[in-house]
Amino acid sequence: MPLALTNAENSADFDTKDIIAMVSRVIPVDPFDLVIFGGTGDLARRKILPGLFRRWCAGQMPSDARIIGAARSRMDAAGYRAAVKEAIAQFGKDIRAEAEQLDGFLSRISYVTTDARGEGGWPELGAQLRDGVVRAFYFSVGPGLFGDLAERLHQFGLITDASRVVVEKPFGRDLASAKALNAELAKHFREDQIYRIDHYLGKETVQNLMAVRFGNMLFEPLWNAQYVDHIQITVAETVGVDGRGGYYDKSGAMRDMVQNHLMQLLCLIAMEPPSKFDPDAVRDEKLKVIRALEPVDYHQIVRGQYDASSEQPSYREHAENPRSTTESYVAMKVHVSNWRWAGTPFYLRTGKRLRARTSEIAVVFKETPHSIFGDEAGGHRNILTIRLQPNEGITLGVTIKEPGPGGMRLVDVPLDMSFAEALGPDAEDVPDAYERLIMDVIRGNQTLFMRGDEVEAAWAWTDPIIQGWEKRGEVPKPYDSGSAGPDDALMLLHRDGRRWRDIRT
Ligand code: NAP
Repeated sequence: MPLALTNAENSADFDTKDIIAMVSRVIPVDPFDLVIFGGTGDLARRKILPGLFRRWCAGQMPSDARIIGAARSRMDAAGYRAAVKEAIAQFGKDIRAEAEQLDGFLSRISYVTTDARGEGGWPELGAQLRDGVVRAFYFSVGPGLFGDLAERLHQFGLITDASRVVVEKPFGRDLASAKALNAELAKHFREDQIYRIDHYLGKETVQNLMAVRFGNMLFEPLWNAQYVDHIQITVAETVGVDGRGGYYDKSGAMRDMVQNHLMQLLCLIAMEPPSKFDPDAVRDEKLKVIRALEPVDYHQIVRGQYDASSEQPSYREHAENPRSTTESYVAMKVHVSNWRWAGTPFYLRTGKRLRARTSEIAVVFKETPHSIFGDEAGGHRNILTIRLQPNEGITLGVTIKEPGPGGMRLVDVPLDMSFAEALGPDAEDVPDAYERLIMDVIRGNQTLFMRGDEVEAAWAWTDPIIQGWEKRGEVPKPYDSGSAGPDDALMLLHRDGRRWRDIRT
C-alpha cells in the first residue's frame, strides 16, 4: 500500500520503498560490554538475548561487543552459549539469519558464575570488562537484588564513569519501597546512569504518538478539552496468571500494569510539548502530568477478578489462594487537573482473561457543534486510535459520504497507517521494544526510560487508591473469562453517556 508522506525539506512524496529504507536505516552503536545479571532467567532467554541477536543481524552491534551472562548457576562459557543458542531457537523464530551470523553473535558471549550476595566470581567478571568502552549492567533479577548487585559492583571497583545500570519492573510495590530502591541505586550510580525500563515506552507506536503529536500541525491545536471528548486507554490480555499466580497475587493489576504502563501512556497523551526531544525535557513534562492527576474517588474505580470458564480455572484457583482479593482487572476514570484537560476524562482499563489481546489508546474527539446534514446524520466523531498490539499502527476515523445514490448518508472510515500493511514483510525489521531500549542504553539516551522522581510520583498517586481498598476490605467484582470485564466497568462510562470501545483484535 503506497503511503504519500511528505518530506518537510523538499516536499517530495515518499512511497513504501522510501519508508522501508528509512525504517531499515541502522545506525551502529559504540563498542560496549553488557553484563546480564540473571542471564539464565526467563526474561533474558525470552527477550533480551533474542533481541540482541536481532540487532546483531541488523548490523547495529559493533563486531567487538561483549555480552556476559551472570548468575549463580554453574556453567562455562560454552555451556552458556549453548543455552543462548537454544533460547534464540525457541524465542527468536522470526529472525532471518545465516548460520555465520549466529556463530558470530555467539562468539561475543561469555559467562561468569556470581552470586549477588556472595563474593565469588566478581574478580573474574572484572577481568572480562574493558576500559574505555560503555559498560552496561542489566539487572534482570528480582528487585530484592538491585541493592546487592550495586554494592558488589562498587566493592569490586567495576563501576566506571561510562557505566550504566538497567533495572526491570517492578520498581517497588509502593512509594516507600520505590524510594528505598532509588536510594540503593543512588549510592553508587548517578541518575543519568540509571535506566528504569518500561517496555511500553520502547514500542514503535508509542514513539510515533509523539511524532504525530509534535511533528504535525494537524493534531496539536485540537489536543485539549475543547475538542477532545474523552480518552480511552486499554491494555487487555487473554492470558490469566497461570504459572505466576503466587507473584501476581501480591501485586494485582493496579501495581503490575496501571502504576507503570498505563500511567506512562497517559503521560505521553496528556503532556505539554517539551521544548526539545531531550530526556529531561520529555520527563519533566511527564512528571507534571502525574502531579496534575486528581485523587480518584473510589466510585470511579472498578476492580475485577476473573471467574472460571468451562476450560479454565478461576483467578483464585490460579493464585492458589481461595480467599484472594487481588484484582486481575481495573477500570478507572481519571482527571488531569490542568488548563489543557480540565473536564476531559481519561478512562483506563486493563485486565487478564479478557476477550482479546489488545492494547490501544483512543482519542475520541467531540461531535461537530452542528450537523448541517440533519439530526439523522449526526453522532459521528473522529477517533484517533493508536494501536500498540497487535498490528502496531495509527488510525484516524473520519466521516465521509457513503458512496452511491440515496442522498447524503454519512459513514465513518479509517485512515489507516498500519506498519505491517505499509511495510509488508519488512515490518519485521522494526525493532521490538526491548531491542530498541537496550540500544538506547548503549547510546546513553534516557528519553524512553523512567526517571526516579517520575516513578515516585506515580506511586504517590497509586498508594492511596490501594490503601483505600485495603482499609475498606474491598472485594473485586467477578467477571467471566473471555468477557470485556465486570458489568460495573461498563456502567463507569454509561453513567457519563459514553461507552467503551470493543475489545477485539
Ligand atoms: P527468573 O526467570 O526467576 O530469573 C532470575 C534470574 O536471576 C536467574 O538467572 C537466576 O539465576 C538469577 N538469580 C537469582 N538469584 C540470584 C543471585 N542471588 N545472584 C545472582 N543471580 C541470581 O526471573 P525473570 O522472569 O527473568 O525476571 C527477572 C526480572 O525481570 C524480575 O525483576 C522480573 O520482575 C522482571 N520482569 C520479567 C519479565 C518476564 O517476562 N520474565 C517481564 C517484565 C519484568 P540463578 O538461579 O542461576 O542464580
